[in-house]
Amino acid sequence: MEYENDELVFLAEDDSAEKEDVLGIWNILIVDDDEEIHTVTRLALSDLNLNGKKLHFHHAYSGQQAIEVMQRLGSSLAVVLLDVVMETDDAGLVVAKHLRETLGLEEPRIILRTGQPGYAPEERVIIDYDINDYKTKTELTRNKLVTTIIASLRSYQQILTINQSRVGLEKIIHSSANLLEEHSIKGFCEGVVTQISSLLGLDSGGIVCARAGRVLDKEENEDSVYVLGAAGEFARYINERLDSLHDRRIIDSVDKCLKSKAHLFEDHYSVLYLNSSGYEAAVFVNLKDEINDIDKKLLEVFVSNISVGYENVNLFHELSIAAFRDWLTKLPNRNEFINMLDDTPCKDSSNRQNVVALLDINHFSDVNDGLGQDAGNNLLVSVADRIQEKFGESIRMGRIGADVFGIIGHDEVVNPDRINLLFAVPFRAGDHTLPINITMGFCKLGQDYCTGINLLKQTNIALNRAKKDLNTNFGYYEPEMEEKTTWRLGLIRKLRTDFSARKLQVWFQPQVDLVTEEIVGMEALLRWPSDDGQFISPDVFVPLAEYSGLIIDIGAWVLDESCKRLKDLVDQGFGEVRVAVNISMPQFRDPEFVNMVKQSVIKHKIDPAYLELEITESVVMDEPQIVIESLKELKAFGVTIAIDDFGTGFSSMSYLQQLPLDRLKVDRSFINEIRPNQSAFIAETIVTLGNKLGLQTIAEGIEKREQASYMLKLGCDAAQGYLFAKPMPFDDLLDFIKAYNP
Ligand code: C2E
Ligand code: MG
Ligand code: MG
Repeated sequence: MEYENDELVFLAEDDSAEKEDVLGIWNILIVDDDEEIHTVTRLALSDLNLNGKKLHFHHAYSGQQAIEVMQRLGSSLAVVLLDVVMETDDAGLVVAKHLRETLGLEEPRIILRTGQPGYAPEERVIIDYDINDYKTKTELTRNKLVTTIIASLRSYQQILTINQSRVGLEKIIHSSANLLEEHSIKGFCEGVVTQISSLLGLDSGGIVCARAGRVLDKEENEDSVYVLGAAGEFARYINERLDSLHDRRIIDSVDKCLKSKAHLFEDHYSVLYLNSSGYEAAVFVNLKDEINDIDKKLLEVFVSNISVGYENVNLFHELSIAAFRDWLTKLPNRNEFINMLDDTPCKDSSNRQNVVALLDINHFSDVNDGLGQDAGNNLLVSVADRIQEKFGESIRMGRIGADVFGIIGHDEVVNPDRINLLFAVPFRAGDHTLPINITMGFCKLGQDYCTGINLLKQTNIALNRAKKDLNTNFGYYEPEMEEKTTWRLGLIRKLRTDFSARKLQVWFQPQVDLVTEEIVGMEALLRWPSDDGQFISPDVFVPLAEYSGLIIDIGAWVLDESCKRLKDLVDQGFGEVRVAVNISMPQFRDPEFVNMVKQSVIKHKIDPAYLELEITESVVMDEPQIVIESLKELKAFGVTIAIDDFGTGFSSMSYLQQLPLDRLKVDRSFINEIRPNQSAFIAETIVTLGNKLGLQTIAEGIEKREQASYMLKLGCDAAQGYLFAKPMPFDDLLDFIKAYNP
């Protein structure tokens, strides 16, 4: 009982000592049923000090007590001085077996002691229970005891180190493996901090930082240090500048680490340096105490292990930037915009309708061609900046195509008025200040779930519609549009095959002098017979041919056919008749156009003065520069020019005056307004204008005698219409001319 008390006293002291400084002591357990042995041993070893650590004694007087102490101390128990014979003959051996097998503790060293000389345990026991030494008590003089203890403490320390690093390495392998699966920089960096904390057995708290340049998606010259990932108290600083932490200790030490490209181990924190193929980062971790050498080694191994992972996540990040970002404006690209649309609900948080818009810059290629690619790029960046600056957080945007931007937001912001206002002020593009016109397509996000890709498609349909609309520069998607699109695509396909199969025809409608009523010309008009013997109207298929680009080949054929027929007429003795051919915008964009016209004239040996090109006002307005230049060249060649459907487009007088015109064609709708005994104001104005500009005028769509007389009275020169003749195939026209007798 006496020694049990003693043990309790010891335990009480021991506990406080252990807690104070677990690393600063060697735990020695003396197990013996002889009280005196305890005292002698303590005395013998009392001032022993190894590696700056003192011995700290624990006492057990039976095998059972020994087991309890061992259980409590675990692997912090360094050496057991163990009596073999106690309550039983082999009580000590039972303790050794229990320590190794039941408690599974490999580190504590065992020194067996026995009072009976001649009694020696079997060799097996020495090996199996990893016994360091076996001595009789009399053999163990003070000196011997000290050397044995020192040797045992050394080997305990080595085994402990090896085992700790093994456990650490297992953790490293495990945590690196986890980290290598991570594909986001933020996730990876959080993982790094958490894993380091768990390696060191701390509460996780730390940050991973890097210079923005290569790693983050910031401006190229941005060199400040950013927090890439963090855990614990620092989590809220992710993606912020390191400065925003306002902690000089962290800011300076991270800076020092990145500059010196080396780890930094300080009393209460460490900064680890990560680098793989130039992907650098600094990992700051808070520590409770100075870090020991084993942990330093562990961290170094860990850091070199995960550096490759860090490079990988950065490469992934760069790949995803390439896949989802526009390189020029740094905006989301088409792919990412589709993802954004996928994630957009039809109503925003305040229950307002969400809308997607596509903005197309008109004639962007002119800027590229005229001022160079750099100016074009600058312009695109200015446009992106302006939209973001003016609309800010209320919208999200992306660059969908070369000169097309996408915007998502609620309809109070994303609407034609607000956007048009934004484009009312010219844009800076390098040294230039350019006024910009845009066309917009809109689509409201519907109640029915619609995929991002479909929304984009629908908005694009609305945009294409808007481009064709002469009255506005925007359009909203309507479901009928799509049905029409399918129908239109089918028709385009059929037109292409029918054109290749030479099924298209050119008919001619005579034009007469209003005074003499003699035939002075004819207009070439396309005819497309359908399978049921009817004709598909040019008003339907010509826009499709324009849209698909087919009009370039078809138009060239109409022109060639017309020149050939003109030659036929000359050959038949009707040399004073001209032929008018309609020309569409896409034909002007074809660089071969001017040459093609000249070649047809030359090939058929006709006088160019008898060939007239008809263009509508909208053609002129669309791309004035190309049209004016081409027409001037053709006019110089000898061809004449007429403005078709005059009065229906938005004519700009300045452009009209720049065009080398010969004739104005008064649109049929104004002729239609002519009523007996009333004045048709617009028809009158056009004829007057024509006279003032020194141009001939011709009235289209004259069906009634009174319309002809009215136009004659106004001073209009010529007329075309059912009153005189409908469009007809060339052979019929030839008969008509031969029989014609005004
Ligand atoms: P447009 O150039 O204004 O042609 C005149 C249209 O008015 C023709 O319609 C003609 O048939 C019609 N018309 C002539 N007199 C009368 C009349 O007294 N009453 C009525 N109601 N209509 C009359 P069409 O042939 O259907 O052609 C429609 C449009 O298709 C043309 O308008 C022109 O813009 C385009 N088009 C026709 N052929 C060609 C072509 O070869 N190339 C191009 N680019 N466009 C063409
Ligand atoms: Mg015409
Ligand atoms: Mg016309």
